[in-house]
Amino acid sequence: MKLMFLGAPGAGKGTQAEKVSAKYCIPSISTGAILREAMSTGTELGVKAKSFVEKGALVPDEVVIGIIKERLAQDDCSNGFILDGFPRTVAQAEALDAMGIKMDLVISIEVSDDDIVKRMSRRRLCEKCGASYHVIHIPTKVEGICDACGGNLITRKDDKPEVVLDRLSTYHKQTEPLKDFYAAKNLLVLVEGNKSIDSITNTIYSKIDSVRG
Ligand code: AMP
Repeated sequence: MKLMFLGAPGAGKGTQAEKVSAKYCIPSISTGAILREAMSTGTELGVKAKSFVEKGALVPDEVVIGIIKERLAQDDCSNGFILDGFPRTVAQAEALDAMGIKMDLVISIEVSDDDIVKRMSRRRLCEKCGASYHVIHIPTKVEGICDACGGNLITRKDDKPEVVLDRLSTYHKQTEPLKDFYAAKNLLVLVEGNKSIDSITNTIYSKIDSVRG
């Protein structure tokens, strides 16, 4: 099963991808998480990515395409995978085609810009393991402390309101055209993202099950 999540930053791609990953036993691959990890350990990739990520711009196509090529070649991807946050440009989608990868389903989680801005201000990230939370919708058991590893929760630099507006504009200009790209291949389904997390998950499961037959 090869699945892809599209949607604005903060639409819930990562949250849903984790659930789908657990249910169908396929890895969820987030280019954003790979880049954040590289930035926090200070690798060459991290240094290259930092200025783009922190201002809400996209990291150059060739860099993320290289990351994805390497990641998809790993053994755990042999039965399928979920792409969360890749591709984000038509050039990246074309690179995936050129790699001979045929997706089974592309799920776009639809949330209005106003709601995205509200959500992002309440999103939190564990600085140690990268787990994602939301002050209201996905709270931790102990405030400010990650349930999974006990690390401290922080606000991502690129979740600050001024950067979120730039990320949204980048999304509309560069990533949203992918909806037409995948609709033309009959792979696109739209899912209303302004519902409870569980109800969105159930809708997504039923879309996946209808493709699996
Ligand atoms: P995310 O965690 O998916 O919201 O990604 C955080 C940031 O990482 C984005 O705002 C971009 O700067 C960068 N990024 C993640 N995935 C990609 C991608 N496929 N292409 C370019 N930049 C990316």
